[in-house]
Amino acid sequence: MPKLERAMWEEEIKRCTRLYGSFNDAELFIRAVYSAAEDYFKSNPLDVVPHFDAEEAEKMIRAGKCINLNPSLDTSAVAGLLKSLNESLLKVNPQLKSTVKELELKLEQFLSNFADKVNKENVLELRDSLIKETALEKDLATFLFSFLLSSLYRQQLNSINEVLRTDLWEGRDCPLCGEIPHFGYLAEESGRKMLECWLCGTEWEHTRIKCPYCDNSDHEKLGYFTIEGNEVCRVNYCQVCCQYCKLFDVRKFHADGKVVLAIHNLATLGHDLAARREGFLPGSNQEWVNDNEVIDRQD
Ligand SMILES: [Zn+2]
Ligand SMILES: [Zn+2]
Repeated sequence: MPKLERAMWEEEIKRCTRLYGSFNDAELFIRAVYSAAEDYFKSNPLDVVPHFDAEEAEKMIRAGKCINLNPSLDTSAVAGLLKSLNESLLKVNPQLKSTVKELELKLEQFLSNFADKVNKENVLELRDSLIKETALEKDLATFLFSFLLSSLYRQQLNSINEVLRTDLWEGRDCPLCGEIPHFGYLAEESGRKMLECWLCGTEWEHTRIKCPYCDNSDHEKLGYFTIEGNEVCRVNYCQVCCQYCKLFDVRKFHADGKVVLAIHNLATLGHDLAARREGFLPGSNQEWVNDNEVIDRQD
């Protein structure tokens, strides 16, 4: 998958605005973070590509083993990018001022714990401590940190996932980094089910009638729902593990080339809320909904 250019994400935001009615509120936030990340990487390019042995990788994939390539991240890049994302959010919503201030204090503490490198787990721990100890809400934290991590991962792993033999992969987790997927799509001509890693952007085919989280393939326990006549976003659920993922049916609109699924995901967070209200949890553990929203409207 090529690096994300401005024209591409702008086009995708426009398309999502046409496709999903409820997208308008989130649009400004999304525009702001994409723009901030692009500016950040322009002045702070991340050219480090982790070591990758294509032959060894192919052997592992054939044996059904995930490569588990998780690059260590420059502490300064994590901090620098997070700072510019925060500033961009603040511009869109000045009411976040005190939250952002708290966040920056915590970020300084965090940085003092790590010299030059951090890993994904460290960054996710930071996210969790912010949710616990500051006013940062869960949904905004998921948005901010999944965007942060996936931007850093994609900068470093793009050239690798382009050459990875994902056609040999039948697993449920990302063959490259091992992350659990949150969304995928139904391919334009074949209708094949493809999953995409929210973190590194790798995509792979997955058996159509099968739960990506528990491997259940009993079609009577698998289903999907759509919302308000919009046929593009399907919430696929499994009644065995009670988890869901979202699949975007790209056959329902004309896409010339690559679709930026991450933006479709952000444009359809109402579907995540609906899934939670139906009692399904995100198989990816990506919490896109605040608990109080689920409870509030249940009664
Ligand atoms: Zn991945
Ligand atoms: Zn399941």
